[in-house]
Amino acid sequence: MNVSPPRYSLVLPIYNEEQVLPRLIERISSLIGRLDGETEAIFVDDGSLDGSVEYLRNVVAVEPRFRLIELSRNFGHQVAITAGMDAAAGDAVIVMDADLQDPPEVVLDLVAKWKEGFEIVYARRVKREGESWFKRITASLFYRLLEKMTSVDIPRDVGDFRLVGRKALETFKQMPEHDRFVRGMFAWMGFKQTAVPFERPARNLGQTKYPFWKMMHLAVHGIVSFSEKPLRVALWGGLAISALAVVFGTYAIFAWIFETGVIAGWTSIVVIVSLLCGINLFMTGVVGLYVGGIHAEVKRRPLYVIDRVAGFDKAMRAASDSRRPFRKPRNGASADGRTLRQL
Ligand code: UDP
Ligand code: MG
Repeated sequence: MNVSPPRYSLVLPIYNEEQVLPRLIERISSLIGRLDGETEAIFVDDGSLDGSVEYLRNVVAVEPRFRLIELSRNFGHQVAITAGMDAAAGDAVIVMDADLQDPPEVVLDLVAKWKEGFEIVYARRVKREGESWFKRITASLFYRLLEKMTSVDIPRDVGDFRLVGRKALETFKQMPEHDRFVRGMFAWMGFKQTAVPFERPARNLGQTKYPFWKMMHLAVHGIVSFSEKPLRVALWGGLAISALAVVFGTYAIFAWIFETGVIAGWTSIVVIVSLLCGINLFMTGVVGLYVGGIHAEVKRRPLYVIDRVAGFDKAMRAASDSRRPFRKPRNGASADGRTLRQL
């Protein structure tokens, strides 16, 4: 094992977090002071529209342990995390939300578990404060549904607050999928995994960036990218309905032959046709989700585009990592839109 002290990377996705940033920087700095190894904090600006970037640029300019990746636009939480992890140089990488709902102090517990030999350590929410009952119920339903539908054991009540070791990180980097459901991807890869419980406080500043439709989107993609069950539902559902249709059809024919004067029921036709149309459309939609996923993959676009980076020339390079894309930006100029995945 390492004799030299471990190196840590913190990855923080930032999307319009202007209000939280001063407190966040404070808390992160004090966390860095308490960690037992060299630590870098990588802020990934996910196309913020407020003053977040300017604030971070100023902080990164004076604080040698902070680094900044500015994505060229909003790519979404899951991709922002990926960009940060791709650039991380530490032996252990910790991903956490920037809104202080993932308390920085919990990182110490994650690190302790990592030192016991766990490659992936999740922070499990045992209590969610300040979240509406609606969010709590939908989240809980989602985790249970996910558990039922997927073949991979995706841990319940676990978000993206986690620590991963180098081996898991390198594995993650080899997973190019566009449809990213990061927590599922880590569950999939195996290794020794464990969870550390924590109480999730309310977001006290700023707004949640996950409105209902975004949550739905994440939920649907979580299921579609980790389960073929919806496709099978289409198959069996279609078969069952066809069987019913045969039975009913037979009855209708006999009725037509033996019951004189019966005019075929208009109502039943309308009911059946509309029912079948509905199911058909639904199932086409299910198939479409998967086809859409394939479409996104075959385009082979890079996952994200980096506008500019700052702070990476300061120290701490990953000795083992050949994919590190960052060169010292020329005169602080933008890193010409190169993307990590192209390199
Ligand atoms: N975030 C991001 N890009 C987005 C949406 C969110 O980088 O498109 C970041 C956000 O700044 C925060 C984290 O992802 O650090 C989690 O977002 P949020 O707190 O809004 O989610 P919630 O805790 O409500 O699920
Ligand atoms: Mg939050």
